[in-house]
Amino acid sequence: MMNFNTPITQIKKIGPAYAKRLNRLDIKTVADLLFHFPHRYQDFSKITPIGNVGLDDTVTVVGKILDIQNSKTPRKQMNITEAIIEDSSGAIKAVWFNQPFLMNSLRPELNISLSGKTTFSNDALFLSNPSYELTGANTGNNTDALRHTGRVIPVYPETAGVSSRWLRYIIKPLLPLAQKIPEYLPPQILARNNIPPLPNALTSIHFPNTLEEAENARKRIAFGELFLVQLVALKEKMNVKKESAPQIEFDLSLAKDFVDSLPFKLTDSQRSVSWEILQDLAKPHPMNRLLEGDVGSGKTVVAALAAIQTIKAGYQVAFMVPTEILADQHFKGLVKFLEKYDVTIAILTRSAHKKTSQKIKYEPFKISKQRVAKETLEGKIDLVIGTHSLIQETVRFKNLGLIIIDEQHRFGVRQRMALARGNIQNSMQKSAGRDPRTSRNANIPHLLSMTATPIPRTLSLTLFGDLDLSIIKQMPIGRKEIITKIVAPAARNQAYAFVKNQILKGRQAFVICPLVEESEKFDAKAATKEQERLQTKIFPDLRIALLHGRMKGKEKDKIMQAFKDKESDILVSTSVVEVGIDVQNATVMLIEGAERFGLAQLHQFRGRVGRGEHQSYCFLFAKSSSKTTRQRLKALITAKNSFELAENDLKIRGPGDFIGSRQSGMPDLAMASLSDLEFVKTVRNEVEDMLIKDPELEKNDLLRQKYEAFKREIHFE
Ligand code: ADP
Ligand code: MG
Repeated sequence: MMNFNTPITQIKKIGPAYAKRLNRLDIKTVADLLFHFPHRYQDFSKITPIGNVGLDDTVTVVGKILDIQNSKTPRKQMNITEAIIEDSSGAIKAVWFNQPFLMNSLRPELNISLSGKTTFSNDALFLSNPSYELTGANTGNNTDALRHTGRVIPVYPETAGVSSRWLRYIIKPLLPLAQKIPEYLPPQILARNNIPPLPNALTSIHFPNTLEEAENARKRIAFGELFLVQLVALKEKMNVKKESAPQIEFDLSLAKDFVDSLPFKLTDSQRSVSWEILQDLAKPHPMNRLLEGDVGSGKTVVAALAAIQTIKAGYQVAFMVPTEILADQHFKGLVKFLEKYDVTIAILTRSAHKKTSQKIKYEPFKISKQRVAKETLEGKIDLVIGTHSLIQETVRFKNLGLIIIDEQHRFGVRQRMALARGNIQNSMQKSAGRDPRTSRNANIPHLLSMTATPIPRTLSLTLFGDLDLSIIKQMPIGRKEIITKIVAPAARNQAYAFVKNQILKGRQAFVICPLVEESEKFDAKAATKEQERLQTKIFPDLRIALLHGRMKGKEKDKIMQAFKDKESDILVSTSVVEVGIDVQNATVMLIEGAERFGLAQLHQFRGRVGRGEHQSYCFLFAKSSSKTTRQRLKALITAKNSFELAENDLKIRGPGDFIGSRQSGMPDLAMASLSDLEFVKTVRNEVEDMLIKDPELEKNDLLRQKYEAFKREIHFE
C-alpha cells in the first residue's frame, strides 16, 4: 500500500534514472512529489469541433488519426512528424518537431486528443507541437481521464530530464493519496478566509478544473505555509517573553546627561527608538530588538546610550561587529561617546586587544587576549567590542546584561542573533557554574541588533516576526546629498576624468565590479581584471588596490585599512565592501553592471561615500540600457529613503534578493506571496487570534504536530 512516505523508488513507473533526477530536485517520497507544484497552467479546456477551429486559437480537438508520417527538412536539420486528425466536422494537420518516436505510439485509426495553438502555413491551418494523448475508446468528453489535453494542465518548472509531461503522467495517479492528507488548519479559519481544505487544494493545484480553482488552491497552500512561518516566529517571541532578564531601570538623569554631552542634537527618530530600547531594558524579560536605520542615520549613538544605561546598572555589554576595522572604528567612537563616564572599555580582535578607562584618561593600551578574557570574567571590563567569533569563542562574562550586534549583513540576522545569545548565554552559565539545560530561570541578556538593510514589511511580519523593530526614519540634518548619475556608455571617459580630478584634489574612489554569477570565484576574477585594466589603461599613475571575497579576512582588513590610511587612491572591489565601513575621504562610488544588483544593495554601496565633509558622487554604469533598467536605477535617484527602495526591490525582483538563499526556510508559495502585504497581514491576524485562544495549541492537535514538524524542517531548533 502506498502512502505519503513511500519512497519514489517503490513507484513502478519510476526507474533508477528518473529516481536520480528527482533526487536532484529533492524529491524522495510520494509526499515530495505531491508537494512539487506546477508554476503555471495552460488552459486547454475548450474542446472544439475541428470544422470550427480558427487561426491562432488555443484549442483541444478530439478525433481519429487518419495518417501519420515522418520526414526531414530539406537541409536535414530537423525531423518533422505530421499527422492528420479527423472528427465528424472536419480534419486538421498536427505537426511536431524532432520527436520521431511519436510514430511508435500514434498510429492510424487510434483515437487521440490534441491541445495546442493553431498556426497558418502553406495555405493550411495546423496545430503546432500540440500536447497529445491517446484516448482509447474514450473519445467522448470525459476530461477526468485526461492529463495532457482537454483541460487545464499543469506546467512544472523546467528541469533537465524531468518534463512536465512525465510529471503529469506520474502525479495524476497519486492524487487519491492527496485526498487523504490531514487538514491542520481549523475549519473556522478556512471558512473565514474562503479557502479550500488542504486535500482539495493539493488535488487541484495539480489538476484544477478551472484556472480559478488553481488560483484558490495556490492561495490555500500559501496560506498554510505563511501560517506556519508566522506561528513559529510568534511562538518564539512568546517564549522569549517567558525568560527572565536583568531589569535595567531607566535612569532619566543619566540619559539626559548623556544626550547633553553629545556634540549634536539627537534627531526625533533617534529619541523615539532610544525610548523603545530603554523601556525594553527595564522589563524583566529579554529584549529581542532589531534597530534599522539608513547608513549614517546614527545608530551607534543609540547603542552607546543603551550601553551606558546597562553599565551604570551594574551589568556588562558585548558589542559584536563583523570586521576588525569596524571593531576599531567603534572602539574609537564609543570611547568618545562614553569618555566622561567611569567605564572600562576593551577591544578584542585578532590584531588588537586593548583596553582603556577614565582612570587612564582614555589612552588605550595594549593588553593580552588572556587578560581581556580574565578581566571580563572578573567583571572588571564593562564593555567589550570585538568581532563576533572572537567574542563568542574567547570571552566569558561575569554579568552580561546586553549584547549589541552591529551591521548584521543581510538576513542571517535572526539565526545569528539566536546563535550569539545561545553561545554567550551558555558561556555565562558555564562560568557561573550553572547547568545550561536547567536554565529556565537564568538571566538572559538583552539583545539589540542593528542593520542598515531595510526590511520590507512582509518580511518583518514573517521571517522576522519574532523580533521587535525600531526604525530610525530620519537622517541628521545638514547631510549633503550624494549626487547620483546614471552614466551612458559614451560618457565613460568623462566619468573617469572626473574621478581623476577628485583624486588630484586629494580624494579617493571606490569601483564596484558587477556580480558575475553567484560565485565568489568568478567575481574575484572579474575584479582582478578590472583592477588591471584601470591600472594599465586608464589611471597608470594612480595607486589602485583590489579587494574581493576570496581573500582572507586578515588580508581584506589590511587592504581596507591601507585605503583608509590613503595608501591607495582607488579601491576596486566586489560586493564585499558593502558593510558599514567609514572612509571619510572617499567621494566617488562608481558601480559597474549596476543592473545586476538590488536597489537596496546599490543604496548600501552609495552609503560608503558622503561620510565626510566633501560633496560625494555615485556613478552607475549599466550593461543593459533597457527601459526597465533605467527605470529601476532611476528609483535610486528619486526614492526618498532606503525603505522605499526595499519595497521597490521586493516588487521588482521578488524576495530572493533579500533572503538570499534557501536557508531561510521559507517555502515556495509563501515566498511568492511576500509581495502581497494584505495577504500576509490577514494570515498574521489569524495566527495572533489562534495564539490568544490556544497559546499552546492544545486544542489543535494536528496543527501542533504540523508546527513541530515544520520547525524541524526549517531547522529552527
Ligand atoms: P550608522 O547608523 O550608519 O551606524 P553612525 O552611527 O556611524 O551611523 O553615525 C554616522 C555619523 O553621524 C557619526 O559621525 C555620528 O557621530 C553622527 N551622528 C549621529 N547622530 C547624529 C545627529 N543627530 N546629528 C548629527 N550627527 C550625528
Ligand atoms: Mg554603523
